[in-house]
Amino acid sequence: MENFNEEEHIFRSKFKPVEVPDDVMLPEFVLQNAELYANKVAFVDVVSEKAMTYSEVVRDTRRFSKALRSLGVRKGNVVIVVLPNVVEYGVIALGIMASGGVFSGANPASHVSEIKKQADSADAKLIVTDSTNYDKVKALELPVIVLADEPIEEAMNYNKLLEAADRAGDDSSAKKPVHQNDLCAMPFSSGTTGLSKGVMLTHRNVVANLCSTLFGVEEEMIGNVTTLGLIPFFHIYGITGICCATLRNKGKVVVMGRFDLKTFISALIRHEVNFAPIVPPIILGLVKNPIVDEFDLSKLKLQAVMTAAAPLAPEVLNAFKQKFPGVVVQEAYGLTEHSCITLTHAIKDAGTLHKNSVGFILPNLEVKFIDPDTGRSLPRSTPGEICVRSQCVMQGYYKQVDETAHTIDKNGWLHTGDVGYIDDDENIFIVDRIKELIKYKGFQVAPAELEAILLSHPRVEDAAVVPLPDEEAGEIPAASVVLSRGARVSEEDIMNYVASNAAHYKKVRVVHFVETIPKSPSGKIMRRLIKERMVQKMKTN
Ligand code: AMP
Repeated sequence: MENFNEEEHIFRSKFKPVEVPDDVMLPEFVLQNAELYANKVAFVDVVSEKAMTYSEVVRDTRRFSKALRSLGVRKGNVVIVVLPNVVEYGVIALGIMASGGVFSGANPASHVSEIKKQADSADAKLIVTDSTNYDKVKALELPVIVLADEPIEEAMNYNKLLEAADRAGDDSSAKKPVHQNDLCAMPFSSGTTGLSKGVMLTHRNVVANLCSTLFGVEEEMIGNVTTLGLIPFFHIYGITGICCATLRNKGKVVVMGRFDLKTFISALIRHEVNFAPIVPPIILGLVKNPIVDEFDLSKLKLQAVMTAAAPLAPEVLNAFKQKFPGVVVQEAYGLTEHSCITLTHAIKDAGTLHKNSVGFILPNLEVKFIDPDTGRSLPRSTPGEICVRSQCVMQGYYKQVDETAHTIDKNGWLHTGDVGYIDDDENIFIVDRIKELIKYKGFQVAPAELEAILLSHPRVEDAAVVPLPDEEAGEIPAASVVLSRGARVSEEDIMNYVASNAAHYKKVRVVHFVETIPKSPSGKIMRRLIKERMVQKMKTN
């Protein structure tokens, strides 16, 4: 085999390194100096207008952490949170972390079987949910805390637990239950292949990510940024990029529990949002949907939108810039396995510099682009698999040694499964994705999970799921299905079957019946070929 140096071409951030404080837990880090902003609103809900000030966030984080300790939560215990975005979400996540536990957010749209899989594979000890989702989790045989005004008889009530924590004595073991290298979060991601897995993130990982991400924040921005909290807080983009980053900067999060374009725009106007982290399908909606024109957009105080989680089409970017000339578009690229953002332009650069680049390498990070077949690092301007090395790289997938070794190599490089290149001005461009992952409106859909559901159908012999491009969603899951001999099943039956076993955003939206699923000699599904065939067939139909 050819001998070469895997680290020949390493690219480092063009920005000066930033300091990452030692031995600090994430809740301590984000709530540092909160007492100086005691009466400032940290979270406000767009519908109910319910709000929480910084002093309430500090108080309730402490109370919830104490309540969890009294329930026996200790270092490393995973608590699953099945909630939409609510004003208490940040406190609940930070309270879990402050107790020594590990916060694991689940999509409240999940099917009960999906929540069970997450709880089982994370060895969860406890669930926090609301009354709407209680029915979904009550069958899981785990203690449940319900966030609701009206207590549910057989479950613990969040507010009552906080009150009880006030009455209880001090727990001296809770002072510093964990250290920087202990886990604080376990979001789920399918990574480059297979099923969804628990991503082990330490306090240090996330603190380091916030230090790198917030390097461009200027003094006058502290306390003055109002951020839209629409991206789900169970996702790394929501919890790190919105909740933690805003709390660290003492800004305000305007919380949206569900999306519709009208509420979205009126929330931006009414709450004077100046920073809106969103995803490409929302940018498309803002550009195309006539509802937008019903509003007096001159009332917007929006200075910047951040778009991440999926590729933004250049035409959509241009159309947005024309419609909202005063708003800077800050593209960002990140992944759960890297604790959140990895590449972005600082806001002050974003408006002028980029040409649909996802950004620069953040401070403290190293990036290389490799030939995925040989592992050889590639020079500037040559597309290759993006690999990242930094203090933000996860510890691995929980109890998945092989999957971890497949993703983080012996030299500490995280292999992202995305293909990109860096140009002469240090801009990075994403050009392809070689991992299996499908991104529907920014949400992760793991083909392996849908294939397992399809294979459980009594009339399905074999199946493969691939992404097909879609203007509105970015990508949609599409299935190639081999039926068992003589089976009479329609495409619609197959779609309904998947829909009744998975969250709505994972729906298979195209089904093609085929004779065989093409596989490599080692048995790997040849996804590219299947995708090409499906696209071809759809063009000819
Ligand atoms: P997640 O872990 O759910 O945040 O998904 C991470 C994946 O989303 C990345 O590995 C990319 O495939 C994709 N992604 C994130 N940001 C971008 C972006 N700005 N452009 C293109 N793809 C992106």
